[in-house]
Amino acid sequence: MAEFYKVDDEVLEIAKDVMRYHPDLNGSRIVFVFRDKAQKLHGSIVLGAAQKVSEKYKVHFPYDFLITLALDQWQNMSDVGKKAVVDHELCHCTLTERGWGIRDHDIEEFREVVERHGLYKSDLMAFAMAVKEAPIRDMFRDGSIKVVIDTVDEFPEKAVA
Ligand SMILES: [Zn+2]
Repeated sequence: MAEFYKVDDEVLEIAKDVMRYHPDLNGSRIVFVFRDKAQKLHGSIVLGAAQKVSEKYKVHFPYDFLITLALDQWQNMSDVGKKAVVDHELCHCTLTERGWGIRDHDIEEFREVVERHGLYKSDLMAFAMAVKEAPIRDMFRDGSIKVVIDTVDEFPEKAVA
């Protein structure tokens, strides 16, 4: 059974800093929580999760989004990695015509397909352009490279995988 804790000031300071990239979230109520150990899903480490809080649960849980971060991974992450993960989770949180919602990742693709067939669709091309300009950074302080993912869903339905 996982244990959950309040996040420390570092998380809140990072969130405050990266909120400048998320003007659409002004006025949203976002809460962060640490989970003691990252879950594993299909062999990948689940670094975090972004969840939209269902309307009926807001009566007792007055937030629009709940972001969970895996503390065991967080503790070994570089400053860049921490910022990127918080920014990533906030990218999932968005304002839609029907209120607060969860946004999916820009691309979903297999590396092998791109290796075999190239940048065959516009979302891949746009992503490749961004990657081309991006520097390589270490996500973890010890330089380790892990296969990491995150999850999204609605709280509390479909509890985080
Ligand atoms: Zn994500």
